[in-house]
Amino acid sequence: MTGMEIFDTHCHLFMEEFGADLAEVLRRAREAGVTRMVHVGLDLDTSRKALELARGVPGHRAAVGWHPHDARLMAPSDPGRLAALAADPLVVAFGEIGLDFYRDLSPRDTQLKAFRSLLEAACGAGKPVVIHTRAAYGETRAELSAFRDSLAGILIHCFTGSPSEAAGFLELGCFLSFPGTLTYKNAAPVREAAALAPRDRIMIETDSPYLAPVPKRSRRNEPAYLAYLVEELGKVLGITASEAAALTTANALRFFGLESAAGESPAAPPAAGQGGAR
Ligand SMILES: [Zn+2]
Ligand SMILES: [Zn+2]
Repeated sequence: MTGMEIFDTHCHLFMEEFGADLAEVLRRAREAGVTRMVHVGLDLDTSRKALELARGVPGHRAAVGWHPHDARLMAPSDPGRLAALAADPLVVAFGEIGLDFYRDLSPRDTQLKAFRSLLEAACGAGKPVVIHTRAAYGETRAELSAFRDSLAGILIHCFTGSPSEAAGFLELGCFLSFPGTLTYKNAAPVREAAALAPRDRIMIETDSPYLAPVPKRSRRNEPAYLAYLVEELGKVLGITASEAAALTTANALRFFGLESAAGESPAAPPAAGQGGAR
């Protein structure tokens, strides 16, 4: 890719899917112009791993959180531990946190209780939140609405909802991050949502290893594939892929408070041995 700078706002490269070839994955990302990414934790252990990944590479950052799937495994002390981790300057957000009533891997009342205590911790840490929400629009919006005034910012990650759900989140001041789903044939409502969102509130992500875009659909996703997503977003918005990349990167830098770091040289090669950091 020629001179594009793409920001992957959400990936999980600490997962075992990348255990064998992480260095290659990072190299391909750089070559595709994906010079910035946020490594997103799913619990205390993976939040630490996310931070370790961010430490090695200029332009990379971390988010610390606890996924709603595992809410039943969260101890009362864990939100405080995550908040302590969030004090690291490389941690740019609290997440992912939220509600998932689609898979229901933890009881809903347990998810709600965990979500509230994590939102409180995020308020205390002074970092914006990265929200996972699936089949729980009304409940998620109600919680965010209650906490909104104390939060540093809200990003709805992996937005695959309807245009009216997008409007509801946008009304609260949320940003929306779109995944590879945007490229799927049956995802017209998601494209519609992207088209209606204000241009200064949209971002893109891979959610690697999940949700690979067409033409890599059903394979392991990786940050380099965002090149396909900026093409599609460009078409949806009636702009070029480069413009879509520049727009979403500028929005991410602003949301994560990285504008002053915009000049840091993210294209520099990672330190030797980075591939073994995991
Ligand atoms: Zn998620
Ligand atoms: Zn995720």
